Parts: sequence; C-alpha cells; structure tokens
Amino acid sequence: MGQNQIMTRVLSVTSECAPLVKTGGLADVAGALPGALAEHGVEMRTLLPGYRQVMAQLSGIKTVHKLSLFGGTAEVKSANAAGLDLLILDAPHLFDRPGNIYLGPDGKDWPDNPERFAALSQVAAKIGTGALPDWTPDVIHAHDWQAALIPEYLPKAGRPSVVLTIHNIAFHGLADVEKMKVLGLEKARFTRDGFEFWGKISALKAGLMGADKLTTVSPTYAGELMTEHFGMGLDGVMRHRRADLSGILNGIDEDVWNPATDPLIAHYKTAAGKSKNKKALRREFGLPDADGPLCVVVSRLTGQKGLDLLLDCLPNLLAQGGQLVLLGSGDPHLEDGFRRAAEDPNVAVTIGYDEALSHRLIAGGDAILIPSRFEPCGLTQLYGLQYGTIPLVALTGGLADTVINASPAALATGVATGVQFHPISHDSLNSALDRLCSLYKDRKTWAQLQKNALKQPVGWGPSAAAYAALYKDVTPPA
Ligand code: ADP
Repeated sequence: MGQNQIMTRVLSVTSECAPLVKTGGLADVAGALPGALAEHGVEMRTLLPGYRQVMAQLSGIKTVHKLSLFGGTAEVKSANAAGLDLLILDAPHLFDRPGNIYLGPDGKDWPDNPERFAALSQVAAKIGTGALPDWTPDVIHAHDWQAALIPEYLPKAGRPSVVLTIHNIAFHGLADVEKMKVLGLEKARFTRDGFEFWGKISALKAGLMGADKLTTVSPTYAGELMTEHFGMGLDGVMRHRRADLSGILNGIDEDVWNPATDPLIAHYKTAAGKSKNKKALRREFGLPDADGPLCVVVSRLTGQKGLDLLLDCLPNLLAQGGQLVLLGSGDPHLEDGFRRAAEDPNVAVTIGYDEALSHRLIAGGDAILIPSRFEPCGLTQLYGLQYGTIPLVALTGGLADTVINASPAALATGVATGVQFHPISHDSLNSALDRLCSLYKDRKTWAQLQKNALKQPVGWGPSAAAYAALYKDVTPPA
C-alpha cells in the first residue's frame, strides 16, 4: 500500500486466537486476520483474555491500563507474539484457571462465564473510547457471543463502529436475568429490541441488535441464518438486520497450512507427493493396505458435525475397501462409538486434540469427511483442498460455498474438487460414500479431482479485501 494511505485502526476482540489458545475455527480466523489485513491498510490489534496458557507463552509484556473488574483487579497488557499485536486482559480471578477455557473440571460451563466475557466486552468498550494513551480504534471487530455485549457498554455518541462476526449462532451466551445488575446492563434494554431472549439475557442478541454491521463466515450461512431451521431462535433478528448482514468466507493461514512447507509432514507440491504421507499414516496407525480411499476426520465430536451419521454409514465405506482415521473429542457417546468402531482393523481413532497429528491426517488421507448438519464455514475442507485431500461434505453453509461437487457437468468441465450430499441423512451419506469410492477407483478422474483441489484458492485474499472495505465503510468520519 502507498505510504500516504490512511490506516484503519481495528480492535479485534476474541475469546481464542491461534496459535496461543484454540478450541475451534474462531481461533484460526482470529490468528490469521491481522496478517491478512495488513496489506489492505488495516492496523489490527487483538484483545484476548489472559488465560493461564496464554500468559505462560508471553514475554516482554507491558501494562498499559489498570482497572477493577468484577471484584478483582485487572490489567490490560500489550505484547507481541506469533506476529500478533496483542492486548491481553490479565484478570487472574477470571482467567487464571487450568484446563479448557470455557469449561470447568466438571465439563460444564464455568458458572461465571457471563462475567468473564462481559469483562472482555467492557474492556473493549473502554479501549474503544480512549482508555489507552496512544491508540484508539476506529472500528471494533467483535467475534461471537463472548464479545457481543460491546455495543451495550459503549456510549451512544463518540464511539467507534462495531462489526460483529457470527462464527456459530448455536452459542448464545445466555445468562439469568438476575445477573443484569452485576453485568452492568441497562434494564431498559431487556426487551425484544434489546438483549432479552425468552426471559434470559442473550449476549449474542445484544450484539446482533447493537452492532453497526454483522458478518458471518460464508454467504450460504448468511442466508441460512435467516431461516427457522438454522437460525437457532434468532432467525427473526437476522431477517430484521438483513440489510447489514454479509457473508465473508474464511480463508486459511497459508503459512501454517501449506504442503510444500509444512514442517509436520513430508513436503509435496503435486498429489503424487501424498503417497509418502499416506504410507506413514498407515504405518503410524497399523492399518493394512487397502483398495479403497483412506478417509480422515479431524473434528469436534458433536451433533453439529453429523458424525453419528458417519458411524452408522461406516460399514458401507469399509465394505468398499475404504479406511478411516479419526481425530476428535467431545460428546462421550460419540467418543465411545468411535472407540468401538476402531475394533475393525481398517479404522483407527484418536480421542483428543492434537494439532500436529491433524496435519499428518490431512496430508496422508485421500479424502476428508465432513457430514455436518450445519457448518458456518468449516476450515478442514479448506485444508483438505490445499493438501489435495478430497472433501466429502454435506451441502450446507461454507461447505456448499467452497467445494465443487463432482457432478457429471463439473467432471466434464474439469472443475470438480469434491463430493457433496443433500439431504443430510443416512441414505444420502451412503450414496455419497459410494460415489467417493467409485471416483477413487477411476484413477484418471481421481487424479483430476486432486489437481483441481490443489489449485483452488483457499487463502485470505478476497475475504481480507472484503473486511477491509467493510471497516472503511463504517469508520466514523474524523
Ligand atoms: P469448528 O470451529 O466448528 O470446530 P472448523 O472446521 O471451523 O470447526 O474449525 C475447526 C478447527 O479445529 C480446525 O482448525 C481443525 O483442524 C481443528 N480441530 C478440530 N478438532 C481437532 C482435534 N481433535 N485435534 C486437532 N485439531 C482439531
């Protein structure tokens, strides 16, 4: 960009950010956006809670603001790590805890999650109105319910604009109405037009009603959100805000996910180079050679991801010589189901979270399976494309927007990159697995699919430009 171009200052407010702390795709997006936006005239700083694991990874931190929050003292600290310009909310009474960032040792939400993330939103609002001596944002970019109370804490005038991105509308950030006072929320706003949702406080709804612009992570999900089936009770709100809603596809961080440079795999530039990784994966999991595709799954194990359907359809894949390697954790029933499935010699299952293993799976697999019931964007199909690992996906959300189904027309014109199925049912997943196996057996067609996948652009380019344009659009005049 030209030297005289004015930078837009944006504060990104997020509850997770790769590589420091991650439970899902939000972290990847929050971690990659600042770098992707730098060349579009955006100076982005990222406000993140000072969880125990985050504090342990930082050095050279400097206190830039002190305050008292929910019965304890807190400091905003600046730090640089992994190329990110960070502002850390260091509030030990809220964030210095072991284990999962959202869940206590009993596997349930921390009871004070409303306060923990209200604190994040309050601090964002303070930074937005001049709390730091040398930097005030033009725009606050809030991510999901954890940052969605920000508009409630900003003054009506003299405030930065707020863009709220919905990464998953299933999570509302609900709190009992009794918490209104302690959260510092205005009683008059506890209405249909404010943050009231079926008698509770909904942090997400506060943001959906109060942000200047709303985005979500794919154009198809933007449309789906306005329907009863996908809107999770907020479809009316989404229709009400339709004029301010846009779908901007997630990209992937190509410094981290690139088969030609990935330090966690045997490098390759063409699909032929996958075979080394495939052999290594089979060896690692003691899988025999087989005639069908080696399929992989890297996922949270929840109802959203449709993996109960995959468990039921697995015999069909195995009967056609297919194999499965799954990495995931979540719902105990699904974990047990997959553990049992792994008694078959052609199935291997690792229950847990393992970033390095996820790279080996995506590099070594022939296909990656994503039968989600809904999927705002999905990142693993993008990793699959980038690694020449053919995605088999449900036709929903971002999976619909990023995979080109191997229909006869797409095969004839040489543009297909994967297999899609709809409706999201056993029969339709079974027939998608049939199609996958027959495509795999047709070596020439499979090689063409891999080639197409490898050349499909999945980086941040156009989406970073779209965010930059949106920020510019909402920046208040100087
Ligand atoms: P969601 O955010 O709904 O979980 P996404 O596909 O958007 O789904 O992002 C999931 C991210 O988390 C991807 O980067 C994926 O590789 C990663 N991931 C999910 N489960 C695991 C796991 N068990 N081990 C390692 N990485 C995982």
